[in-house]
Amino acid sequence: MSNNATALQSYPPNIREAPNTRKTKEAVLPIYDLTPFTMLDFPDKCAAIIWFSGCNMRCPYCHNPEIVKGKGNTKIDDVLNFLEKRKSLLDGVVLSGGEASIYPGLPDFVRKVKEMGYAIKLDTNGTRPDLVKNFLEHGYLDYIALDYKAPPEKFKRITGFQKFETFLETLSILCKQNTVQFEIRTTVHTSLLNEQDITAIINDLSSKNYIGTYYVQNFQNNNDSPTLEILPPQERILDISQLPQPKGFSIEFRNF
Ligand code: SF4
Repeated sequence: MSNNATALQSYPPNIREAPNTRKTKEAVLPIYDLTPFTMLDFPDKCAAIIWFSGCNMRCPYCHNPEIVKGKGNTKIDDVLNFLEKRKSLLDGVVLSGGEASIYPGLPDFVRKVKEMGYAIKLDTNGTRPDLVKNFLEHGYLDYIALDYKAPPEKFKRITGFQKFETFLETLSILCKQNTVQFEIRTTVHTSLLNEQDITAIINDLSSKNYIGTYYVQNFQNNNDSPTLEILPPQERILDISQLPQPKGFSIEFRNF
């Protein structure tokens, strides 16, 4: 892997087009919104967050239905101009959404942002292993947050996405490299996931020699922020005392 400028000059040659590429207005205006400054989302970086519109999953607990189902309203060039002007104030860019990896123009966008000198964090649901592999090979990424939505038997119910194996491919690619720091995270609503499911995920991460931090996030009910599906209130909170000790990595619990 390379982080040098020479590598950045070449366009990634072997990225397949996103499986659900949309030749629509969204492809022209792929960005839903931009957060100009955050110190919370990219470890050790002052970053802007780019919210890409559209997603190839339909997680019931998603708090961003307007981004997932909505159309973009911002041109890529406008975002690039913004980033060019903020180079002296920001040092990172977070690619979030929605799911940034389904935007067909992402490789070109990432290359341009990287050439400006920014560190890049990708938030992803793991459905584009080819893209992640190529970005790693080109030194385009500095941090990755990967959602581990559910064990295989619940994956389709929770995401609406058929192929757990595609996610696993992304996970394996990341676990086999040690150049780019990454984190794994799972959101838990106990009507969807239970202690056995999280145990299965912990055991899977142990078997893949994961060495980072696994974040287990308790679903936050927020009446001001609708979810993709109407979910009942959680009747109970996940009993974290039932979870096994992970081997080789740490667990952090958020919002418990
Ligand atoms: S929570 Fe699920 S539906 Fe919402 S943006 Fe993430 S992957 Fe897409």
